[in-house]
Amino acid sequence: MSECVFCRIVNGELPAEKIFENEKYLVFSDVNPQAPVHYLVIPKEHITDLMAVKNPAMLGEIFSIVQDVAKKEGLEQKGFRVVNNCGDEGGQTVDHLHFHILGGRFMEWPPG
Ligand code: 5GP
Ligand code: ZN
Repeated sequence: MSECVFCRIVNGELPAEKIFENEKYLVFSDVNPQAPVHYLVIPKEHITDLMAVKNPAMLGEIFSIVQDVAKKEGLEQKGFRVVNNCGDEGGQTVDHLHFHILGGRFMEWPPG
């Protein structure tokens, strides 16, 4: 059994509200939403963080999925935010690469 919560979601060991899935990526709802829309986009492969990405094409694929999800969820016109927290000072709490998609309210700047 994996120690990583997101690997456990990928493996079906933990439940999640799945929004989109293909061979390599999974999008699911954040369990502790910070906005009316709060999804996480992850590679199914366990990669700890942004700096561990060896294949930069992966980032293009992830952002292409972000575009698709934004269109499908009606965020395209109103706008939305994509966040990657990298490492301790970046505020990363789950060490499996993920991008937050946040929408459905006005975002503030700077983030905390
Ligand atoms: P980070 O702080 O690492 O950028 O974001 C991790 C995110 O994962 C947090 O927003 C947190 O709510 C979410 N999260 C942590 N554990 C689970 C879980 O078991 N299921 C789901 N759906 N989200 C989780
Ligand atoms: Zn993992």
